[in-house]
Amino acid sequence: MAGQVYLSLLNPSIAFSFAGLVALLWRRWPSQTHLFPLSVSFLYLGIGFITHEWPLLSRPGSINYSSNALFFAAVVLACSSALVRARVGVPVLLFGLITATAVAGFAWFTVVTPSTLSRIYFLNGCFAVLALVTSSRLLQAGAHSLADRLFVAGVAMGGLLAAGRPLLMVTGVLKLNDSGELSQSAYWDSVLGLTPLLSVMVISLFVFALVLDLMTGLRREADQDYLTGLLNRRGFEIGAETRLAGVAGRQAPAALLVADIDDFKQINDRFGHAVGDKVIAAVGQVLAQHGQADLVGRTGGEEYALFYETGSRHTLETCAEAVRTAMTTLHLAGLPAGYRLTISIGLHLRDGLESLDDMMRRADRALYEAKSAGKNRAVLAPVRLRSV
Ligand code: GH3
Ligand code: MG
Ligand code: MG
Repeated sequence: MAGQVYLSLLNPSIAFSFAGLVALLWRRWPSQTHLFPLSVSFLYLGIGFITHEWPLLSRPGSINYSSNALFFAAVVLACSSALVRARVGVPVLLFGLITATAVAGFAWFTVVTPSTLSRIYFLNGCFAVLALVTSSRLLQAGAHSLADRLFVAGVAMGGLLAAGRPLLMVTGVLKLNDSGELSQSAYWDSVLGLTPLLSVMVISLFVFALVLDLMTGLRREADQDYLTGLLNRRGFEIGAETRLAGVAGRQAPAALLVADIDDFKQINDRFGHAVGDKVIAAVGQVLAQHGQADLVGRTGGEEYALFYETGSRHTLETCAEAVRTAMTTLHLAGLPAGYRLTISIGLHLRDGLESLDDMMRRADRALYEAKSAGKNRAVLAPVRLRSV
């Protein structure tokens, strides 16, 4: 059948092109480790189709073990790739068990009670179980992003396809050929016809997810301070503005804590810039761990800001004290033992529907007061009195 020859050429060409494309993507972004098993998966798929059309290890008419093994390996690798992308551990033991079951079933229906139909049912059943295990693991890990959810849907669809094909055979829609063989049967035509479609779906899913993952990574980098791992000024302001918009109407006001390392210039001058950098990072960690804030950012050289969606005078002062106490236990290599590293803090509770800019200005003013009053202390911005 001319159509079948065309399809038999189409499948390996598509699979090899995708294997190459994914390998190139992997070379460009080696941190996306899941692209490697995906590339090998397409490679196996392509070789599987080649060895099916031009059998290397089997006599004409006999079972093609190599293509069956390659197709199975391709599915296992594609599932593993989806799990690696989601940073979910690949259940090696479980996948090994399913593979061993598939091999045992294949051998049973080849040697003990030979039946092509039963072999097809059995292998498709194993594919469906692989897809089920993969999609449930992805779900368990929490499919947070759009790409994550698309993966769960994509893998589940693959599982449905694997389970659906035997159903179509049971109902007589798909048949083997008259001699009960795979080649030139409606069943094999469905495999040849649907695999390119499935391959395009799989590659689209992975490429779409790659683009989204890279964009998320870039955005995170744009909002992150490289030295402390906290938000940078841009990230802090965007985050705080967004949260301020969401807290309108709450009883307790939003709040800010701004902190500045005391006499930091001396640290640079006496111990060097590298030690200064370590101090900036360590103080950032203290604020992140003990400040109990919704957002923590490094907003300047040795300046930080903490944002609270809701706060009160009492909670703010408690947080400031917790941070200052934690500072007394901070010991850093590069600073002499007993070196007194302190910070000054400005606190401000939002007044009505004050903008973030105004809040920052008033918190900075309170910080200035703390510095003027002798440093190593927290000052709360005074409540503004209104005439009635
Ligand atoms: P005060 O107690 O009044 O805050 O005095 P200070 O010395 O801490 O403040 P000042 O603003 O005079 O000095 C801040 C210094 O921080 C000046 C600048 O060279 C240094 N600095 C800014 N960014 C970095 C950085 O990323 N790494 C290091 N090591 N130093 C930085
Ligand atoms: Mg300072
Ligand atoms: Mg400063």
